[in-house]
Amino acid sequence: MTIRIDDWIFDVDPVKTKAHSEFALNSHCTCGYCENYYRGVDLEYPGLRAFLDRFFVEIEGPSEMYPFEPTQYLLAYKVNGRIVQAGAAPIMVDGVPIMGEIIDDDTFKLEVGEIELPWILDEDMDEVVSPANEPEFLERMYQKMIQRNSSNFMFLS
Ligand SMILES: [Zn+2]
Repeated sequence: MTIRIDDWIFDVDPVKTKAHSEFALNSHCTCGYCENYYRGVDLEYPGLRAFLDRFFVEIEGPSEMYPFEPTQYLLAYKVNGRIVQAGAAPIMVDGVPIMGEIIDDDTFKLEVGEIELPWILDEDMDEVVSPANEPEFLERMYQKMIQRNSSNFMFLS
């Protein structure tokens, strides 16, 4: 199925994408950082769910979530299909930039963010126990940030 948004053109396999997204939804992390995103995102960015729906992707089924801070998130949603044409700039939804990135011949990801959210859980955000607090994950987040900053730089130059 062809999806055109701005100057982006995607070819999406609805059945495979749905299957993966539902699997990701059912196995997603339930720590406070992630929970805060799942509860808060519709309130702050109502257009995001509708955008992901067009790709047959559940908003609660990201394949990766990076809470750079407890209230600042970067997410990747895996889609089965191809980026036929990459646009010149990110797609903007409710002020959130979304980039398509090729994973391999049959899959790509929609990188969503960064997203700012208020902290809405009762739990103290400084006391959340999360995989995102593990040194290994912090290292990955750090690498991700460097990567993003360098690609932004290339984008601007
Ligand atoms: Zn989590």
